[in-house]
Amino acid sequence: MIDRDPITDEDELHRIANLPKIELHLHFEGAAPPAFIRGLAKEKKVDISGIFNEDGSYAYRDFWHFLEVYEAATSVLKTPEDFARLCTALLEESARNGVVYCETFLSPDFCGGGDVTAWREYLHAIREAADAAERDMGITLRGIVTPIRHFGPEKAKRAARCAAETAGDWIVGLGMGGDEKQGRQRDFAYSFDMAREAGLRLTSHAGEWQGPSEVREAVEDLGVERIGHGVRAIGDLAVVDMLIEREITLEVCPGSNVFLGVFPSLKEHPIERLRERGVGVTVSTDDPPFFHTTMKDEYLGLAKAHRWDEEVFAMINRTALDAAFCDAATREAVLKKLEPSA
Ligand SMILES: [Zn+2]
Repeated sequence: MIDRDPITDEDELHRIANLPKIELHLHFEGAAPPAFIRGLAKEKKVDISGIFNEDGSYAYRDFWHFLEVYEAATSVLKTPEDFARLCTALLEESARNGVVYCETFLSPDFCGGGDVTAWREYLHAIREAADAAERDMGITLRGIVTPIRHFGPEKAKRAARCAAETAGDWIVGLGMGGDEKQGRQRDFAYSFDMAREAGLRLTSHAGEWQGPSEVREAVEDLGVERIGHGVRAIGDLAVVDMLIEREITLEVCPGSNVFLGVFPSLKEHPIERLRERGVGVTVSTDDPPFFHTTMKDEYLGLAKAHRWDEEVFAMINRTALDAAFCDAATREAVLKKLEPSA
């Protein structure tokens, strides 16, 4: 690996921060600005003050406490209207960061408790807000239904059923999230099969907290074509090569990984080693306000730590667009925003 000087040219950093971006890994509730959640809690007279620091940011000790705080924050989101308002708030933030296309994980467990009829109502409200944001801000959103691993395989089936019933041009995938240390990938095979039969594209969180074998299991046991994180595949080059061979794209969230201590620093983060070897890597924020990051921060951090220039980011965004779960017409429209001369 070549050790290159970090990019310090202010003009170049400014151009990099303002590049059009594609984000494939964003948890809908995890993107909720803390001020939005506090405002909603106040309106509903719910006391969740314990989940905030004095400066108003989210407070938690580690990943597992983060999951609890996440669920407490999410508890004030109740009606389809609440979710529609959140959709607008998060897309405003994404558009400010130059994101032109985004895929977000939506959980039917939080939107109607896994009931298909209720889920349709939430989805309708969210889509209306997303359509308005596309008209007003030029940002395109698509949804990936997310079964939550630590809720277990039975609840996952309900989430997958919601996904299958609403699969189409807006709900485009199924992607498992949650605590990777609970159960096995294969415990969820039924849900992934159901989604595949409904025409949905597949991804699963793996190789964030668990090692390379977890990444292999997600690919072999669930048949996913993308992996959420997947970065710990670096511990076994046979798994890395399997990713290259099968053209599996990684939804890498460097800031999240460093914040949660998966890797000690961006410099030591394996995204560049994976990219150099030939793995399709992309860049996302995961749960940005929880991890004190934004898409602009991610780009600036990578430019500084790994000397990624505009050309590298252009390749990253092309990889992301190729791996996006949207239909061909949407992909074409997004390509024009990424590469106006294309
Ligand atoms: Zn995630």
